[in-house]
Amino acid sequence: MSKLQGKVAVVTGASKGIGAGIATALARDGAAVVVNYASSRAGADAVVEAILSSGGRAIAVQADVTKIAEAQGLIEAAVKQFGRLDVLVNNSGIYEFAAIEDVTEEHYRRLFDVNVLGVLLATQAAAKHLGEGASIVNISSAITHVHTPTAAVYAGTKGALNAISGVLANELAPRRIRVNVVSPGLVITEGTHNAGVVGSEMEAGIIAQTPLGRAGQPDDIAAVVAFLASDEARWLTGEDIAASGGIR
Ligand code: NAP
Repeated sequence: MSKLQGKVAVVTGASKGIGAGIATALARDGAAVVVNYASSRAGADAVVEAILSSGGRAIAVQADVTKIAEAQGLIEAAVKQFGRLDVLVNNSGIYEFAAIEDVTEEHYRRLFDVNVLGVLLATQAAAKHLGEGASIVNISSAITHVHTPTAAVYAGTKGALNAISGVLANELAPRRIRVNVVSPGLVITEGTHNAGVVGSEMEAGIIAQTPLGRAGQPDDIAAVVAFLASDEARWLTGEDIAASGGIR
């Protein structure tokens, strides 16, 4: 199946975790993919290598999406290499958990910079190049509904992202550019390992509340993103799809 044949996609934060799964799935479905990373060059190179060895097209591009010049450089690299842009997946994101008494200005700014400003800057840069039929997919989180304790700032960033996505769905609709959200539940990634979530009471609690009874894998999310990126989802914009095993 090649439902993304002829399309060019940028996936932010694709050096590992959910982003790596999304980049791989989009390439499998025929897209030429720009695998963005901030610092994990080896991870991004490995994702590109795997895509190339399966007969796909991909390049790795370093860019910190919180810096306007780098976000613009990322999009320009995609257009320069592949000649067009059809799909932007805003996946880059960081999560740290803190009880309200431990929230600091730095914690707030770090999370909002990557999870909100980064999406705005990448989308602004991409919007100049996107045309009729293009698709933007923003990776939010089921945490905006689940309201996990200690996630006030992180959930705040994703709530902001949901609101921004709804606005941009309306703002870009006259140009026939679709904007949708995918909200994963807990997914086993490098990030959730490093944050101490995997193996924790938080993980056990989330799985206990998940109707399908397990944590997600990057592929579970990537399949939904590949659908939203494709013309099969041509009548969907402004949606928020919970890819979460039923927890919401
Ligand atoms: P992860 O394993 O920690 O990977 C995060 C990715 O984001 C990495 O590729 C990282 O690049 C990139 N990144 C971080 N800061 C960046 C920046 N300033 N500019 C560009 N890229 C940057 O995370 P994950 O678990 O796969 O999560 C991916 C997304 O899904 C996030 O938006 C997260 O909020 C969301 N999400 C995750 C879960 C979950 O349970 N895993 C659940 C719901 C939502 P480098 O490695 O190069 O630094």
